Amino acid sequence: SESAAMKFERQHVDSDGTSSSSSNYCNQMMMRRNMIQGWCKLLNTFVHEPLADVQAICFQENVICKNGQSNCYQSSSSMRITECQLTSGSKYPSCAYRTSQMERYIIVACEGNPYVPVHLDASV
Ligand code: ATP
Repeated sequence: SESAAMKFERQHVDSDGTSSSSSNYCNQMMMRRNMIQGWCKLLNTFVHEPLADVQAICFQENVICKNGQSNCYQSSSSMRITECQLTSGSKYPSCAYRTSQMERYIIVACEGNPYVPVHLDASV
């Protein structure tokens, strides 16, 4: 079955996807990455950087996670991301998303051996 690290990659990493310039990017990607399963996920962030650069965040600045745990890390460089926000009034299974490209520092939670991202905590 899918590990937490694999789930993180599925939900949050789209290294080649700089084509998020399309306003349809989120509608397509939320489907393609299997995030429309029984309900419409409200918000999801995709990171458009090489996987190795995202994994390296686990060894960058240690910060406190939103849930109070201490296994979060903030990227030392800003990263190209796309935020997918469910539009108000959209109803499963027709989940409609607003696609917003930005450049942000991202904060991930890391676990395991190897120590890899398992959760995307925030972008700042
Ligand atoms: P979402 O975009 O829905 O928030 P996510 O990236 O948080 O997705 P989840 O499906 O919620 O992904 O899975 C997060 C996994 O990370 C869970 O298995 C959770 O136990 C684990 N985890 C480890 N450390 C933390 C942490 N500090 N905060 C939140 N989750 C954590």
